[in-house]
Amino acid sequence: MQTIGQNIRNIEKNKDAVAMKVGRKPGEVLLVVVTKTRNEEEINRAIENGITDIGENRVQEILDKFDKVKPVRWHLIGHLQTNKVKYIIDKVSLIHSVDSLKLANEIDKRAGQLGKEMDILIQVNAAEEESKFGITVEETGPLIKDILNTCKYIRIKGLMSIAPFAENPEDIRIYFRQVKKLYDDFSLINHERLDFQYLSMGMSHDYEVAIEEGSNLIRVGSAIFGPRS
Ligand SMILES: *Cc1c(COP(=O)(O)O)cnc(C)c1O
Repeated sequence: MQTIGQNIRNIEKNKDAVAMKVGRKPGEVLLVVVTKTRNEEEINRAIENGITDIGENRVQEILDKFDKVKPVRWHLIGHLQTNKVKYIIDKVSLIHSVDSLKLANEIDKRAGQLGKEMDILIQVNAAEEESKFGITVEETGPLIKDILNTCKYIRIKGLMSIAPFAENPEDIRIYFRQVKKLYDDFSLINHERLDFQYLSMGMSHDYEVAIEEGSNLIRVGSAIFGPRS
């Protein structure tokens, strides 16, 4: 069996190779290691192997692990309930899953109380799958506008998307492409609280296609730690 360190090195090499293949710079794509269901030894092993960014999809897992893991940047990548914002607002560097004004307003309120600015991404459900959170491509512009009009402590740093599962990742290329187009459109907007830097797309089974289509942040779990039980 491959070790966590070997898997990380393989993915780092591969993500740079894919980026270069499509004319992008190596090192341009950030690897966020997804550690849901993994224990602190496994997470610390990843950090010892140079990982700086950790992703969790549940608030409770961040709270359980936060003090047991070496200092690192935490990303909340899963659905966030409004009433749980207060528990993680001082712990996470980037919230990937903002998909309503109500949630954004709560993040804004809690960040304001701490006197900090919170970086967020808007979650876009390009394929409009019922089973997934996120807003449609059409709803993205209006939500961004509402956030900029009502929030003072939020910086919108980009978009996140989870593609449908497909045996053949070629079948979902179109969704990555749609979200990249949206990302490019908003990157042109000049606003002090909108500063697009992250396009968070791609997981273990589809990150290569996502990078080919312009992702610069991939969220990878099982390809590093093995399948989740
Ligand atoms: C679990 C999860 C991932 C990682 O999935 P893998 O297939 O294990 O790489 C990425 N993004 C989100 C939002 C997740 O919940």
